[in-house]
Amino acid sequence: MSRVRLALLMWMAAALMALGLAAPASAGTPKRAAISALCHAASGPDRTTEAMIERAAWNCTGAGWQADAPVAWLRFEADAWRDASLPRHFVTRAARHERITFYALDAGGTLRGRNFDESDGTPFAAGPVFRLPLPVLTSETEALLVRIDRPHSIPMLTEAVLVHDLDEAGRSLEEMMLLTLVLGMLVLPLLFDISFYLVLRERFVLFHAAMVVSMMGYVLFAGGVISSVVTLPVAVMAVMAPLWWSSGCGAALLFLSTFLEGGALSRGMRRLTFWAGCWTIAVPGFFALQLHATQAFDDAGYFLAIMPSAVVVSAALIHAILRGSRSAKFVGVAWFPLILTSMERLIRGLGVYAGPSSLDLMMFVATGIEVIVISLAIADRFLAIRIERDAALTEARMLEQISTRDSLTGLMNRRAIEARFDALLAQGFDTFALVDLDRFKAINDLHGHQVGDAALVACANAIRMAGDRDSVAVRLGGEEFVVLLRGERTLERAEALRQAIPRRIAQDVPGLDLPVTASMGVIVLAQATRHAMQFSEFYARADALMYEAKASGRNRLAYERLTVFSQPPAPRRTRESKAA
Ligand code: GH3
Ligand code: MG
Ligand code: MG
Repeated sequence: MSRVRLALLMWMAAALMALGLAAPASAGTPKRAAISALCHAASGPDRTTEAMIERAAWNCTGAGWQADAPVAWLRFEADAWRDASLPRHFVTRAARHERITFYALDAGGTLRGRNFDESDGTPFAAGPVFRLPLPVLTSETEALLVRIDRPHSIPMLTEAVLVHDLDEAGRSLEEMMLLTLVLGMLVLPLLFDISFYLVLRERFVLFHAAMVVSMMGYVLFAGGVISSVVTLPVAVMAVMAPLWWSSGCGAALLFLSTFLEGGALSRGMRRLTFWAGCWTIAVPGFFALQLHATQAFDDAGYFLAIMPSAVVVSAALIHAILRGSRSAKFVGVAWFPLILTSMERLIRGLGVYAGPSSLDLMMFVATGIEVIVISLAIADRFLAIRIERDAALTEARMLEQISTRDSLTGLMNRRAIEARFDALLAQGFDTFALVDLDRFKAINDLHGHQVGDAALVACANAIRMAGDRDSVAVRLGGEEFVVLLRGERTLERAEALRQAIPRRIAQDVPGLDLPVTASMGVIVLAQATRHAMQFSEFYARADALMYEAKASGRNRLAYERLTVFSQPPAPRRTRESKAA
């Protein structure tokens, strides 16, 4: 919960900072004297300019903007520049179009025209905008009419302005600083994502990286930062911003569908979120291309197709928060400003009202907030996943311990030695000593199983050389043990262990009438034959020696030095045995 509070604090700090930076922009810095269009109109391709001289042809209410007709018209009145320097440039938001024609309407009704193709526009670092030179306006000019053939976006009409100097339309220093700040903020989470992915191969990290890259692309193009580095064609500027935006929204949905804890989203909601993500990349992505064939509906199509993503994101987040998801709370805090500003942008994009493009800055700030909080959320989730994995690992180790240890004596069991046998051979364990207690059945019969068990534990303690890296003790089952040895004088050491068994049992299990002795069958392997030998082969050979030891009176050791290990064990082969 404290992390959520921290995120909230950071959110507030960033919001305050944004207000401070955006305020001079939206309040309108004094250097701005950009002139907006007073009236607008939409028509078919055949409407003549002469017909547009008539006042009645225009809509001057400030509403009802249309980018779906073949031709859009803008009308700028001379009253606006009467007492100031004459405008020289036309500046508007980069959107695809076919042609822009300017008509200076001079006193007496003469029209002077000048037209430009889409490729004539020059984007410049003042947002997602481009400029065109105006026909020379004079004191005689009464109005400027602008005809835009096949305009693809409403902001291209609502944000069109005339300026004398380009810096009247330029971004303020604060705005540029803010954009650079946001871009810088986006680099860190990207590095974050890369390092997270190296440790934690979770898909949501990739989706988040895709989202961050899209946001960077969006800030670069929609913020116009790219134009301070390179001047791209208007068509590219026009397409890239909405393309990055829709891919960012899509990646956000894909991220959400994979990021939240298991169970935070119902199966249906998870699927809906995932497919809404795919839709948002594909469908608005297509409209973002602004093909001339889709001009009549691509602007509305883009915004209408992207709208469901905001609805699905909000629904999925509320759904997950109600189901108690901690990650969803983080994401909610992170995305709230972004969803809010995106909605505003959507409504503005649909032409419900005209606002200054500096409102877009709020979205960039929201983007910065998003990235910081989501990075915290990922870090938090990362921690949770790591804790989960550590716990699972500990449990797995415990289970492994249980399955590889003998429960009575705590020695390694047969399963474990079989699994590690090759490795132990490779580590130089060349002596295999099979231990069997003598006449142990009688102990059980005389003293009961509990005493028998205690004797087995004492025997295990006798052969377990704690801290000795050159011996490994194993309980194979029943009263049968194996000691693997390596190093110097292994045979002597095996015999010492064998002799230690009755002493230890007598010490640990008082009240036994007779000493509990042990017999041993020992295989000592020469270097040359170390490879490719099975546990079962050792066992069979040692067992044959054990039989020999038991047969010749018990409480003794029988051993065999092997240099070649090719034939199956025979119970009676040449071997040396020695009584204890
Ligand atoms: P020898 O090996 O000297 O020929 O005689 P033995 O009496 O030891 O013969 P055998 O190996 O056949 O008997 C093994 C006995 O070990 C049988 C069983 O009563 C006893 N035993 C096996 N497992 C356990 C155990 O876990 N606890 C106890 N108390 N006794 C066990
Ligand atoms: Mg026995
Ligand atoms: Mg036995």
